Amino acid sequence: RAKHEGRGGYRFFEPAMDAEAQKRRQMELDLHDAITEGQLSLMFQPLFNLSESRVSAFEALLRWNHPVRGLVPPLDFIPLAEDTGLIIPIGDWVIREACRVACNWPEHVRIAVNVSPVQFRSPGLSAVILQALSETGLSPQRLELEITESLFIDNPETTLASLHSLRALGVRVALDDFGTGYSSLSYLRAFPFDKIKIDRSFIIDLLNNDGATAIIKSITTLAEALGMETTAEGVENAGQLDILREQGCSHIQGFYFSKPVHEAEVSTMLGMDAAEPARIAG
Ligand code: C2E
Ligand code: MG
Ligand code: MG
Ligand code: MG
Repeated sequence: RAKHEGRGGYRFFEPAMDAEAQKRRQMELDLHDAITEGQLSLMFQPLFNLSESRVSAFEALLRWNHPVRGLVPPLDFIPLAEDTGLIIPIGDWVIREACRVACNWPEHVRIAVNVSPVQFRSPGLSAVILQALSETGLSPQRLELEITESLFIDNPETTLASLHSLRALGVRVALDDFGTGYSSLSYLRAFPFDKIKIDRSFIIDLLNNDGATAIIKSITTLAEALGMETTAEGVENAGQLDILREQGCSHIQGFYFSKPVHEAEVSTMLGMDAAEPARIAG
């Protein structure tokens, strides 16, 4: 590790670096506790289907309630969880918890779960999904896995094989943050994703950049031709929504429609009776 910190490695011994390493080590220990002490929770952000004018899914978004630091956002601990392998038990928990919550929702409402590349490559993923589905009675087509383009960089063949075996379970697969990473059209042809999620960076540009509109147009045209849905991420205002609708985007997600909400607020949003007992599997 020290090798990467600077020529000769001596930077490793600078006090600042030492403090940084210690903080990281502490976070790692804390992250172990997060799982066992029940400090993890999920928020749910709706995806709105524009042609049906209704919510079609919620994305599960992970939160860590640290006893001292308070709420730690996912981007501040997921990289550490990936480096240490803790993302696998964490991700397993996310899948089980997401299915547990979603099995009480109306049939037409799906749950989308982010799957880290590290968890995606772990051999136990299919088994965890199968178990979560059978324990909750959630039908597989109501579970949508969100994966990112980075999976195609190192091992496209293995990634494709894994995608096909996940698809064989009946679950849906969405390509998240489309357009940010290693973008290649070849894997859109190689695997029939159910949905493409257009990264927020393209949506931000919509109101002040004609090029951004053209990009949205070409993504939605391509997706439609390939039989894939599109979700625009991070829609924050009516102006963006109008352009997205005009350019044929099928779904939107973002603060303009709703921020991520707690489990109880989902029921309200879906007009469900909160007292309705959980549906029992089998
Ligand atoms: P993502 O999968 O692209 O999720 C969308 C992120 O954009 C969420 O941030 C959401 O709160 C935020 N967002 C949604 N609408 C808007 C908007 O209108 N404006 C702005 N500024 N932001 C918006 P969050 O919850 O902080 O999650 C960040 C990232 O962390 C996610 O990006 C995903 O990559 C990762 N993540 C979250 N939960 C999980 C998880 O359970 N497992 C894994 N492996 N990664 C997760
Ligand atoms: Mg996502
Ligand atoms: Mg995304
Ligand atoms: Mg994103």
